[in-house]
Amino acid sequence: MGSHAVVFYIFMIINLYETTIAHSGYDLPYTFFDGKDHAFHHSHIDSMYGSFFLIMDKILGTDKKFKEHLARQEKKKLAEKSQ
Ligand SMILES: [Zn+2]
Repeated sequence: MGSHAVVFYIFMIINLYETTIAHSGYDLPYTFFDGKDHAFHHSHIDSMYGSFFLIMDKILGTDKKFKEHLARQEKKKLAEKSQ
Protein backbone atom coordinates (compact mmCIF):
# COMPACT_ATOMS: atom_id res chain seq x y z
CA MET A 1 0.00 0.00 0.00
CA GLY A 2 2.99 2.29 0.29
CA SER A 3 2.38 3.35 3.87
CA HIS A 4 5.18 3.40 6.41
CA ALA A 5 5.46 0.28 8.58
CA VAL A 6 4.88 2.33 11.75
CA VAL A 7 1.62 3.67 10.32
CA PHE A 8 0.56 0.13 9.49
CA TYR A 9 1.28 -1.10 13.04
CA ILE A 10 -0.48 1.86 14.65
CA PHE A 11 -3.51 1.20 12.44
CA MET A 12 -3.49 -2.51 13.34
CA ILE A 13 -3.25 -1.82 17.09
CA ILE A 14 -6.13 0.66 17.00
CA ASN A 15 -8.19 -1.58 14.72
CA LEU A 16 -7.69 -4.69 16.88
CA TYR A 17 -8.50 -2.73 20.03
CA GLU A 18 -11.65 -1.30 18.45
CA THR A 19 -12.75 -4.69 17.10
CA THR A 20 -12.24 -6.35 20.49
CA ILE A 21 -14.24 -3.68 22.31
CA ALA A 22 -16.97 -3.58 19.65
CA HIS A 23 -17.49 -7.35 19.83
CA SER A 24 -17.23 -7.60 23.62
CA GLY A 25 -20.89 -6.71 24.11
CA TYR A 26 -19.95 -4.45 27.00
CA ASP A 27 -20.23 -0.72 27.35
CA LEU A 28 -16.79 -0.09 28.79
CA PRO A 29 -15.82 3.21 30.40
CA TYR A 30 -13.05 5.40 28.98
CA THR A 31 -13.46 4.23 25.40
CA PHE A 32 -14.84 5.87 22.29
CA PHE A 33 -16.55 2.61 21.37
CA ASP A 34 -19.68 0.95 22.60
CA GLY A 35 -20.16 -2.80 22.34
CA LYS A 36 -23.93 -2.51 22.64
CA ASP A 37 -24.46 -0.67 19.38
CA HIS A 38 -22.31 -3.10 17.42
CA ALA A 39 -24.06 -6.07 19.06
CA PHE A 40 -27.31 -4.53 17.83
CA HIS A 41 -25.80 -4.41 14.34
CA HIS A 42 -25.17 -8.15 14.48
CA SER A 43 -28.74 -8.87 15.58
CA HIS A 44 -30.34 -6.31 13.22
CA ILE A 45 -28.23 -6.33 10.09
CA ASP A 46 -29.84 -3.16 8.65
CA SER A 47 -28.75 -0.92 11.53
CA MET A 48 -25.65 0.52 13.17
CA TYR A 49 -23.11 -0.12 10.42
CA GLY A 50 -20.37 1.91 12.04
CA SER A 51 -18.36 0.27 14.75
CA PHE A 52 -15.81 3.02 15.27
CA PHE A 53 -17.42 6.34 14.45
CA LEU A 54 -21.19 6.28 14.60
CA ILE A 55 -21.64 9.71 13.05
CA MET A 56 -22.55 8.22 9.66
CA ASP A 57 -25.30 6.15 11.28
CA LYS A 58 -26.68 9.37 12.72
CA ILE A 59 -26.41 11.24 9.42
CA LEU A 60 -27.95 8.43 7.34
CA GLY A 61 -30.56 7.45 9.93
CA THR A 62 -29.39 3.86 10.29
CA ASP A 63 -29.38 4.33 14.06
CA LYS A 64 -33.17 4.76 14.20
CA LYS A 65 -33.96 1.15 15.16
CA PHE A 66 -31.21 1.19 17.81
CA LYS A 67 -32.61 4.37 19.35
CA GLU A 68 -36.08 2.82 19.37
CA HIS A 69 -34.60 -0.30 20.99
CA LEU A 70 -32.93 1.80 23.70
CA ALA A 71 -36.17 3.71 24.31
CA ARG A 72 -38.09 0.43 24.70
CA GLN A 73 -35.48 -0.88 27.14
CA GLU A 74 -35.64 2.32 29.18
CA LYS A 75 -39.44 2.17 29.22
CA LYS A 76 -39.27 -1.47 30.34
CA LYS A 77 -36.84 -0.60 33.16
CA LEU A 78 -39.11 2.20 34.36
CA ALA A 79 -42.13 -0.13 34.29
CA GLU A 80 -40.21 -2.73 36.31
CA LYS A 81 -39.16 -0.10 38.87
CA SER A 82 -42.72 1.13 39.35
CA GLN A 83 -43.98 -2.37 40.23
ZN1 LIG B 1 -18.97 -7.16 14.09
